[in-house]
Amino acid sequence: MSTRPKFIAGNWKMNASLQANAALLQALRQGLQGQEPACRIAVAVPAPYLAQVGQLLQGSAVALGAQDVSRHEQGAYTGEVSAAMLADFGVRYCLVGHSERRQYHGETDADVAAKAARLLAHGITPVVCVGESLAEREAGQTLAVVQRQLGAVLGELGSAAEGIVAAYEPVWAIGTGRTATPEQAQQVHAALRGQLAAALAAAAEPIPVLYGGSMNPGNAGELLAQSDIDGGLIGGAALKAEDFLKIISAAQ
Ligand code: PEP
Repeated sequence: MSTRPKFIAGNWKMNASLQANAALLQALRQGLQGQEPACRIAVAVPAPYLAQVGQLLQGSAVALGAQDVSRHEQGAYTGEVSAAMLADFGVRYCLVGHSERRQYHGETDADVAAKAARLLAHGITPVVCVGESLAEREAGQTLAVVQRQLGAVLGELGSAAEGIVAAYEPVWAIGTGRTATPEQAQQVHAALRGQLAAALAAAAEPIPVLYGGSMNPGNAGELLAQSDIDGGLIGGAALKAEDFLKIISAAQ
């Protein structure tokens, strides 16, 4: 078991409203009341709600996160949100390279690396998501794919990569109810941990590597007990305060 503190991050994806956010965060804060959680906690919310959620999280143990950022600094990029804008709203973490961005928005490894660099330049921690498709897993390419994806970020950032969080999210397990077995996940996590250590030596030690893909209160304990799984990136189960709180408890 590593000595890294666990990190539980929720990804709300495109699920939010002023009303739903207020109810979810109230329940979350209530559930955490009186506790000094032993793990780091964050929620990655849709950009229009950053101000609302930032305000509702004030004074809580839950950090504000975003789901995407522009690879550009500023200018004529209609519809994009810059790292400076996220920083203005107190964002501490931002997902990059989520498989839904890679799949539906054509994000390349180079885009992901540029976004991670942009975030670090503005003091925001990139949560770098990597993961193989089912076809890639079945073709025995899992480690080659995830190491190519992470390698692009490590190559771009150099020693600054010590400031990232990594997340292994097998595409076939996201939102499908199908989870990697603890052994399958651990195997990939160990390879990613080795890659981080090879690139950054001792500076890699504090970098958390999260697992994401249908993590829920029923499977979180077993996944989080794996020696190289440092936390979870949670989609569906982060939308129910009760489930998210149970996963946080499993990480203590
Ligand atoms: C995710 O979107 O990052 C994710 C892991 O989703 P889910 O937990 O719903 O599979």
